[in-house]
Amino acid sequence: MATPIKKRRIGVMTSGGDSPGMNGAVRAVVRMSIYRGCEAYAIYEGYEGLVQGGDLIKEMKWEDVRGYLSRGGTLIGTARCMAFMERWGRLKAAKNMVERGIDALVICGGDGSLTGADKFRSEWPGLMKELVETGELTAEEVEPYKHLNIVGLVGSIDNDMSGTDATIGCYSSLERICSAVDDVFDTAASHQRGFVIEVMGRHCGWLALMASIATGADFVFIPEKPPRVGWETQMCDIITNHRSRGKRRSIVIIAEGAHDIELKKITANQVKDLLTDRLKLDTRVTVLGHTQRGGQACSYDRWLSTLQGVEAVNAVLDATPETPTPVITIRENKIERSNLMEAVALTKSVSEAIKNKDFDKAMRLRDVEFKEYYNSYMITTSTDHPKLRLPEEKRRRIAIIHVGAPAGGMNPATRAAVAYCLTRGHTPIAIHNGFPGLQRHHDDKPLGSVRVCKWLDVDPWVNEGGSEIGTNRGLPSIDMKKTAECFELYKFDALLLIGGFEAFTAASELRKARAQYDAFKIPLVVLPATVSNNVPGTEYSLGSDTCLNTLINFCDAIRQSASSSRRRVFVIETQGGRSGYLATMAGLSVGALAVYIPEEGINIHMIARDIEFLRENFANDQGASRAGKIILRNERASSTYTTQVIADMIKEEARGRFESRSAVPGHYQQGGKPSPMDRIRALRMAIKCMQFIEDHFIGKSPTEIAEDELSASVIGIQGSEVVFTPLGGEEGLEATGTDWVDRRPKNEFWMSMKSTVDILSGRPKSTDCC
Ligand code: ATP
Repeated sequence: MATPIKKRRIGVMTSGGDSPGMNGAVRAVVRMSIYRGCEAYAIYEGYEGLVQGGDLIKEMKWEDVRGYLSRGGTLIGTARCMAFMERWGRLKAAKNMVERGIDALVICGGDGSLTGADKFRSEWPGLMKELVETGELTAEEVEPYKHLNIVGLVGSIDNDMSGTDATIGCYSSLERICSAVDDVFDTAASHQRGFVIEVMGRHCGWLALMASIATGADFVFIPEKPPRVGWETQMCDIITNHRSRGKRRSIVIIAEGAHDIELKKITANQVKDLLTDRLKLDTRVTVLGHTQRGGQACSYDRWLSTLQGVEAVNAVLDATPETPTPVITIRENKIERSNLMEAVALTKSVSEAIKNKDFDKAMRLRDVEFKEYYNSYMITTSTDHPKLRLPEEKRRRIAIIHVGAPAGGMNPATRAAVAYCLTRGHTPIAIHNGFPGLQRHHDDKPLGSVRVCKWLDVDPWVNEGGSEIGTNRGLPSIDMKKTAECFELYKFDALLLIGGFEAFTAASELRKARAQYDAFKIPLVVLPATVSNNVPGTEYSLGSDTCLNTLINFCDAIRQSASSSRRRVFVIETQGGRSGYLATMAGLSVGALAVYIPEEGINIHMIARDIEFLRENFANDQGASRAGKIILRNERASSTYTTQVIADMIKEEARGRFESRSAVPGHYQQGGKPSPMDRIRALRMAIKCMQFIEDHFIGKSPTEIAEDELSASVIGIQGSEVVFTPLGGEEGLEATGTDWVDRRPKNEFWMSMKSTVDILSGRPKSTDCC
């Protein structure tokens, strides 16, 4: 007998191949459903659970998903279910759902799973009718279930779904691949070996291409863009060229679905034999296999799955019978709802185009970004394309400087900018040790801190953390006159500033000093790179992803340390200056109990309320998770309530029921090697900056350049777009977008996510007690 529904019941399942981040999605769907007044049900083992019913459909309470965020794979299981491919299987599934009172499903899986889901929804009225006609259910029983709501979340390591920039799991998988390739690089260089590395991707080359970009592989094979006839010679020429320039190791990355333009499979062993026979290279094959699937989700997959899970529940509750089935996507930085079947159709058309050998179409049908990445990669792997060279009169001297604290991605960005310059015939010039380095210039030491970059020097920076050319917080205003003299002396035609708020400030100073110094009437472009992600004009800065990964690893480890001891809460201090971005995003990624940020400050009521909340939390936690709980406090959230003070207050008030400790990861947060996301975005954004300089300013006089507001600008991700925003002018960032006192953007895009951290931890609203 179907129970009358008091509350809506939302089912959540994971289906198809598992991917890191699926657990984050389940946690978010369960908790958001409960928060929105619904009941949440987990369907275990994918569609198998829906078809079999019974214990495989289980109500989930708030505590049931505790600890999910940091776990790999999918804790509610997944399966490939043949029965659901058949109508009788779907009929059984429909009956199980009605009997359990579930009328909405959130499914996290690949295109197969989501196709099945949409089919299920479109058949639903017919299934209901049949269940009544065959007497399995009565008309009254099915009456409340006339419509089924489905929402798709794309969980897949391949990133093979069209219409979204990333699928849940793809960046974790990329991390695993890059870490393996980085390791192979070291051994390859030691022995001067060649390596052919096979990665997953039967129909989609995203993992192979991004791994090649992130590790500086010499050659890549992907299904969408097979190599041209004579690829054997092309590949050997590129590798010989790299070797002749001093490279000690050669790496080729091949997607498992690689083939030539006649769709003839290209295998890792075939490539290895070529390198061995033709180039006499001692070459090995490494097939990464299932390691690519395993392990914990990286920070990006944790917050992506969390925000998408929340959005999925909202989409369920917004849906009407007429709403087309949505899939939750992300474009650049924006979570969106798209039409599921359109996305699936587009995805299928890529495979179709490949099957029809229409590779241009296959590349077109992938996201624009994919093609951009491919072209950018080609520029960095073979820097001497005669066709790409500009005529002499269009070549420029382009300076690159790092400003502020080091951040992951500074080196890869510099490498990419240099590669682009060399390809086009420009002269790339590195300014060492920031503006103070430049200002230390003496005529008797002309090339001390200003050096023309050579490819061999910058090529290994592809995966290096920190700043190889040296970075410094010093600003041009320390000695503006000397700065201008150096700009003139070295004949800079453009300047790329890579750094955080100081880089932004430096560009702003140079722009304003144009009135006194003509030398600054050149394009000044800021590429944001700072762990704090506090640069106006962008929602993402290089280095912030690396930092978040480091931070969540720190939190996971420290939380785990509590599992063998007593109940413990950790107050962890994050960097971020006066911006709470890091603390908030890390809070989303680790499931922090509370996050303290400078934008909100800290007061005694908040602490009292959170201590009370901790008491309840530990009381309800019947051993489900003896691991510690986390409070994240940004370093500048309060000058009175320091990290240690808060930890001490908690300890005092807990009266022995639980313990508290403080922990400060400090500079460890800046990370070692940059994350793959920071590396690939470094490439994309640096090349965009170079193209922007070429497209907008070559051929213009200094006066024309100075009059163009975009000649001093910041590249940034804003919502779903990559844009350049001017610093000056009435609407420019200096006047409208910058909080100069607190050194952060006026409108911080992530502030709305702060409430999600609180909702998902169950923290009471601040108005309840303040
Ligand atoms: P992955 O990206 O890992 O391959 P996927 O979701 O595409 O994930 P599939 O094996 O294609 O994986 O699908 C998973 C399950 O979804 C199938 O076992 C089946 O139960 C269901 N399914 C897939 N396609 C359909 C379909 N056309 N009709 C009904 N159910 C389907």
